[in-house]
Amino acid sequence: MTAGNAHRSIYLDNAATTPCDPRVVEAMLPYFTEKFGNPGSRNHRYGWEAEEGVDTARGQVAALLGADEKEIIFTSGATESNNIAIKGAAYMYEKAPAGSGKSRGHIISSIIEHKAVLDPCKRLQKEGFDVTFLEPPKDGIFTAEMVKAALRPDTILVSLMWANNEIGTINEIPRIGALCHEHDVIFHTDATQWAGKMPVDVERDNIDLLSMSGHKIYGPKGIGALYVRRRKPRVRLQALVDGGGQERGFRPGTLNVTGIVGLGKAAEIAKAEMDRDGTRLLALRRKLEDSVTSRLDHCAINGHREKRLPHITNISFGFVEGESLMMACKDIAVSSGSACTSASLEPSYVLKGLGVGDDLAHSSLRLSLGRFTREADVDYAAEQIVQAVKKLRELSPLYDMHNEGIDLSKVEWGHH
Ligand code: PMP
Repeated sequence: MTAGNAHRSIYLDNAATTPCDPRVVEAMLPYFTEKFGNPGSRNHRYGWEAEEGVDTARGQVAALLGADEKEIIFTSGATESNNIAIKGAAYMYEKAPAGSGKSRGHIISSIIEHKAVLDPCKRLQKEGFDVTFLEPPKDGIFTAEMVKAALRPDTILVSLMWANNEIGTINEIPRIGALCHEHDVIFHTDATQWAGKMPVDVERDNIDLLSMSGHKIYGPKGIGALYVRRRKPRVRLQALVDGGGQERGFRPGTLNVTGIVGLGKAAEIAKAEMDRDGTRLLALRRKLEDSVTSRLDHCAINGHREKRLPHITNISFGFVEGESLMMACKDIAVSSGSACTSASLEPSYVLKGLGVGDDLAHSSLRLSLGRFTREADVDYAAEQIVQAVKKLRELSPLYDMHNEGIDLSKVEWGHH
């Protein structure tokens, strides 16, 4: 089974998005043309067929998460799931009404979350909620102790990602969830990079709200899910959009049946194959890292060395310029920082958040492997990167000076 095309560049940006698994596409096809009904149509076969497809998918997603089917809300993706969870919980459980002059309540998140969490939190801050954005230690991992130190009597919600999309580091989610439950605080996790790759059990892992996305797990784009706990405790959310009452009123609008069927199939495959994929990708990622770091000096892997997703690595290269590095590696599709920020020349706020300096943050590459990555792809990418960095360093006066033993931090640069 292959995805992608041999004459195109090697795809190592699976954290940005994944190709659809052909088995997913196959499952979706009948729902475009034959079973095209509206699952809200209760009085004919077309509606029933579509509803059956949605029900199956809901079961598949629920099984992936260890949840009940009734706890799954289909959305347009993780961005929407995060918004519904974070704003919906804040508005529902606010401690004081808007405009009262009092704090509306306290929320804890972090400075290295995806924008799809940061921005809803910042909006709530503008609207009168207090938000604590935790700063990570150098290894990028948030522990329950760090969250505990930030808890306040008026804390409503903690929102921390399960695994970071730029460096792959894994937060102590089950322990943070347990802490939140002890303190009657709602716990949301953006599991976009985790769910479908690593095991989830919302009961064992003490999760109240969980966001995930289809296109990160070999499903289609524009479809995602939000898990909303129904018991112990029952989590209520204020709906952000008004309409026909679908998805328990949390997400009204005619269901994206083809997308939902695709997400369901992707979830089913992920559950069955995650162990095998994870083991294979960990070996490939180690090979890639070893091959690059053993042949180049002055490069560093960002984030905790062990507590990382198997398929993501983020490497900083000293003495090269980030844009030139990307240009020189144009035969491999990788990301500098995250795809969402790489359009701008700002260094990655995640790497900066870990304390990586501007220069190194600029000259970092995120490489993310996936189900369709082959060993030859990884070998080719390592070779490209090593050659590119060597070539750029040959042109670098700084690298020359460094090799001559000049301490660059003591050099007084002329200002013109
Ligand atoms: N959260 C994280 C951690 C992500 O990596 C992404 C995708 N880059 C999102 C949220 C947004 O997901 P979607 O594209 O499904 O809205």
